[in-house]
Amino acid sequence: MLGYCSNSPLRCENARSIKLLNQIDSCCPNCGLFLLPAQNLSNQLRADEQFLRFVFLAIAVMLLAVTYIYYLNFV
Ligand SMILES: [Zn+2]
Repeated sequence: MLGYCSNSPLRCENARSIKLLNQIDSCCPNCGLFLLPAQNLSNQLRADEQFLRFVFLAIAVMLLAVTYIYYLNFV
């Protein structure tokens, strides 16, 4: 499994460096603790990126609409 060490950063070198580990037994080779799956993390990042893109688009559309209304009313 691909993941990060779930141990405290103070206790394990791999947790401190947030090193991406690929272990078959899904345990940290340094301290033996279970790994946190990296798959969820990248999915979360992708969702965040999509949300940011949506917000950016919404702001752009809103700006266009405001400019259009301003143009209609005052020119
Ligand atoms: Zn560890």
